[in-house]
Amino acid sequence: MSISTASTPPALAAVLRAARRVVVLTGAGVSAESGVPTFRDALGGLWARYDPLEIATPSAFARQPRLVWDWYAERRDALRLVEPNSGHRALVAIERRVGDFLLVTQNVDGLHARAGSRSMVELHGNLARVRCSLEDRIVDRWDAPPGDEPPRCPHCGAFLRPDVVWFEEGLPAEALARAEDAADRCDLMIVAGTSAEVLPAAALPLRAKRAGARVIEINPDATPLSAVADHVLRAPSGEALPSLVAAAWPDASEGGGAK
Ligand code: NAD
Repeated sequence: MSISTASTPPALAAVLRAARRVVVLTGAGVSAESGVPTFRDALGGLWARYDPLEIATPSAFARQPRLVWDWYAERRDALRLVEPNSGHRALVAIERRVGDFLLVTQNVDGLHARAGSRSMVELHGNLARVRCSLEDRIVDRWDAPPGDEPPRCPHCGAFLRPDVVWFEEGLPAEALARAEDAADRCDLMIVAGTSAEVLPAAALPLRAKRAGARVIEINPDATPLSAVADHVLRAPSGEALPSLVAAAWPDASEGGGAK
């Protein structure tokens, strides 16, 4: 394993340029430079006394549905004020240059799609969407809730909930299968902005390693993956990813030119 803290080493740029099947796994850190708090950072202000592990669960929703609804509603509103950053855009540039590419994100903020990523799996859902807690139907409109309840599904009357995967819930099977299949087939996996602790996403780089792929980690802090990765870029993704793209394809602008 090698570690760099500043510019991209030329050998690493060559690895990216030569890669034919690339998977990128992202987590909350990739959106930190857009001003979206990571899970731990989301605990300031009004919510300081709540543990997210006790809010983002089905049992919390069963116990205190309005509290859980309000927590997510506040996060959904906050997303309207943020924009994708240079790290999100650099991933679009990689997608445009690599034929076989899949972005696997644990983020629920929708910023990758807003930056222009298309070949993508949202493993944990999307905060902007709301669904019926009973029938899983996606719902676009609802009436303001009376009293102390979340809004109700206009079709069946059950409570509405965010379309995200909570702790204690399984991931969407199709999305996970697509991510695992890509991890098993890739020759390069870039892992950016994740604490690499939440399963099953955290197992994807290990699958890629087992299948013979190189693994590059991008994170200012050490994680359990750091010891396993072939190379670690100890820098914020908003700097490291554009620098990697510029080193691999010196003709590329940050937003990515034509393929
Ligand atoms: P995490 O909060 O557990 O870890 C974030 C990681 O990002 C840390 O290792 C941190 O060192 C790193 N980091 C911080 N700033 C960075 C930067 N500028 N560049 C690169 N790395 C940086 O996040 P996780 O691993 O994604 O797991 C948390 C869970 O919470 C996930 O399931 C995710 O769905 C959810 N979540 C999502 C969002 C979002 O959509 N933006 C935000 C918070 C939590």
